[in-house]
Amino acid sequence: MSEFPSVLAVVVVRDGTLPAGADESVAEAGGAVLLVGSGTEEASSRLTSAVRVWTAGTGTAPGTLAATLAPLLAPVHTVVLPASPDGRDLAPRLAAALDRPLLVGAVEVLPHGADVLRWGGQALVELTVDGPYLVTLEPGLRGVEPAAGTPERTAIALPAFGGAAVPDARCLTTLEATAETGGLAEARRIMGAGGGLGGAEEVALLVRVGAALGAAVGATRVVTDAGLLGYERQIGTTGVTVDPDLYIAFGVSGAPHHTGGLGAPRHVVSVNTDPYCPMTAMADLGIVADAAAVLTELAQCLERDDESAL
Ligand SMILES: Cc1cc2nc3c(=O)[nH]c(=O)nc-3n(C[C@H](O)[C@H](O)[C@H](O)COP(=O)(O)OP(=O)(O)OC[C@H]3O[C@@H](n4cnc5c(N)ncnc54)[C@H](O)[C@@H]3O)c2cc1C
Repeated sequence: MSEFPSVLAVVVVRDGTLPAGADESVAEAGGAVLLVGSGTEEASSRLTSAVRVWTAGTGTAPGTLAATLAPLLAPVHTVVLPASPDGRDLAPRLAAALDRPLLVGAVEVLPHGADVLRWGGQALVELTVDGPYLVTLEPGLRGVEPAAGTPERTAIALPAFGGAAVPDARCLTTLEATAETGGLAEARRIMGAGGGLGGAEEVALLVRVGAALGAAVGATRVVTDAGLLGYERQIGTTGVTVDPDLYIAFGVSGAPHHTGGLGAPRHVVSVNTDPYCPMTAMADLGIVADAAAVLTELAQCLERDDESAL
């Protein structure tokens, strides 16, 4: 294990699923990654930016995982974790176990620190540290270029942690993700509610249509401030950063505070009465129409196709 390079990404995998930002963290670490958790070998084949991969089947309880990993990671100068839910759980515990500083919310890892976002994304601050450190990288901002060739993969067995019991987080239950509760950061499809969509009735319909299409529902601040959806559904510089394959925006103007958290969606559809609004300008498909009417029509199409869809 002493072969770990001086910069290494550490990514927690659950049942073979990579978290949001996994590939970006690997790319930021120069292509070297240690995958831990469950289904790590399966997950390793989905990485596009990896050059060198180590996989280890472990539990995902963050305290025990940190205690197990700390001796192995001691020679590594810079440990990069995605700022995914598991990454954010593990990073501070690992930093404490390694007795190192943790730089959170980075957009770029530097040789002696990182550029981090502060003030709700309003400021970019360069933090420098003496000696080794850990970084959590914000998903959806960096993007990745696929690495050339097939990565070299090594499965390793980690020694079971034999120290005194670590106070740890316990998973009591795993809730099924719904359009309204599923993690936005990991969602591949997102339907966004903006101020032009309407009120509670239209937002409730968006949630139902989102569920039928396997999409998570996000919102602008206008919608969360109005109490139509919780703040955890807000996409933007003071909300969640996302990176979906598809973003369908209903009555969203496309203000920089919102699009700043959108990542780089592969496809964007904007439904807006204003053909010149920034959201439609960045869309692959702009539908110039009343958002509620288009949503209602979409719901009716889904109902016609499958009576149980909504
Ligand atoms: C410090 C700070 C942080 C912020 N952080 C965030 C953030 O994290 N996320 C965020 O989203 N915002 C954030 N904001 C707010 C942001 O600047 C915008 O005000 C907000 O994103 C606008 O939301 P909106 O597009 O839904 O609403 P509006 O700006 O009100 O736009 C509504 C849109 O709907 C269209 N429309 C109107 N009627 C219809 C209709 N019937 N059918 C179809 N379209 C229609 C309009 O043409 C318009 O484009 C922040 C602001 C500040 C100052």
